[in-house]
Amino acid sequence: MAEKKRILTGDRPTGKMHLGHYVGTLKNRVQLQDEYDCYFIIADLHTLTTKPQKKYIGELQENIRQMVLDYLAAGIDPEKSTIYLQSAVHAVYEMNLIFEMLVTLPRLSRLPSIKEMARNAQLDEEAVPFGLIGYPVLQAADILMPRSHLVPVGKDNESHVEISRELARRFNKYYGKVLPIPKAKIGDVPTLVGTDGQAKMSKSLNNAIFLSDDGDTVRKKVFSMYTDPNRVSADVPGKVEGNPVFIYHDAFNPNTEEVDDLKDRYRTGNVGDVEVKKKLAAAINTFLDPMRERRAEFAARDGYVEEVLYEGTERMRAIANETVQKMKEAMGLSQLWGWIESGKK
Ligand code: ATP
Ligand code: MG
Repeated sequence: MAEKKRILTGDRPTGKMHLGHYVGTLKNRVQLQDEYDCYFIIADLHTLTTKPQKKYIGELQENIRQMVLDYLAAGIDPEKSTIYLQSAVHAVYEMNLIFEMLVTLPRLSRLPSIKEMARNAQLDEEAVPFGLIGYPVLQAADILMPRSHLVPVGKDNESHVEISRELARRFNKYYGKVLPIPKAKIGDVPTLVGTDGQAKMSKSLNNAIFLSDDGDTVRKKVFSMYTDPNRVSADVPGKVEGNPVFIYHDAFNPNTEEVDDLKDRYRTGNVGDVEVKKKLAAAINTFLDPMRERRAEFAARDGYVEEVLYEGTERMRAIANETVQKMKEAMGLSQLWGWIESGKK
């Protein structure tokens, strides 16, 4: 049987996962688990790019636990897929350094995503760490570590996968073909808007509905959602396109008849926000219910999250060592050590 192609993707353990993560990448991960050999990274080293202080490292353990529970709740199956902790795999530090030599500073500094991360972390230009500029290089090390072919991510990460492709191509050009050229796979909703109408739902922007939110919290968040600001009462025709409430209906309400009817009545000024939001909250809660159940089951299993991470990280270590070994041999670096070992008196 031919070996399966590989997937790598993952998340920074900066908080709980939300609906944006689901439609942007988690859904694809769950669907592709059988077809691909999947590696899902808990990218704790990436949190250091904006939060290197000890107090943030102190928050990682709880964030990591919640994130693994989010994965399991969403349907990632550790029997099929590998979930691992980035900082515990030594090879990633080595690969990161090798890749740093193969990309220019202007190429990285121009990326809007890095500027946005700096802005969100309230860092002005002078305060941006070298490591934040190198964010996509470290990401390339992650992606190429299991020599993966496909990277399911949200739209905001597409430019980073492009850097991985360039690094893989350059490595292969300089040293011989060792690495596959990975491809991004963007989710059904490339970037889900926030509940506040901001372009992106994000852990750090306080505009997210979390997979672990309970029913009441979801209802409250939906009822405070941003809609068409020009629509002052229910009898005023409203705008459906680009309206977060309808974007969410399209993404999470499988009852298309209900959604079409609400849209028609909204456009003609025949439905109140309350009805639209009530039906949306119900749809999101129906969508989240099975995840809540699974989450509670896994959370109650003492030591299970740790076991999943332990096994997964061990699996990744083996494959990562293999990749770094191949790379260093192709570069001629291993041979230098070989010469010293065999030549010494
Ligand atoms: P942070 O605020 O810590 O940057 P985040 O919410 O942006 O958090 P990340 O950990 O940066 O989440 O992203 C993890 C994955 O989820 C990436 O593939 C990213 O593209 C995807 N993703 C994050 N937010 C969204 C969103 N609103 N819509 C679609 N995909 C998203
Ligand atoms: Mg982000």
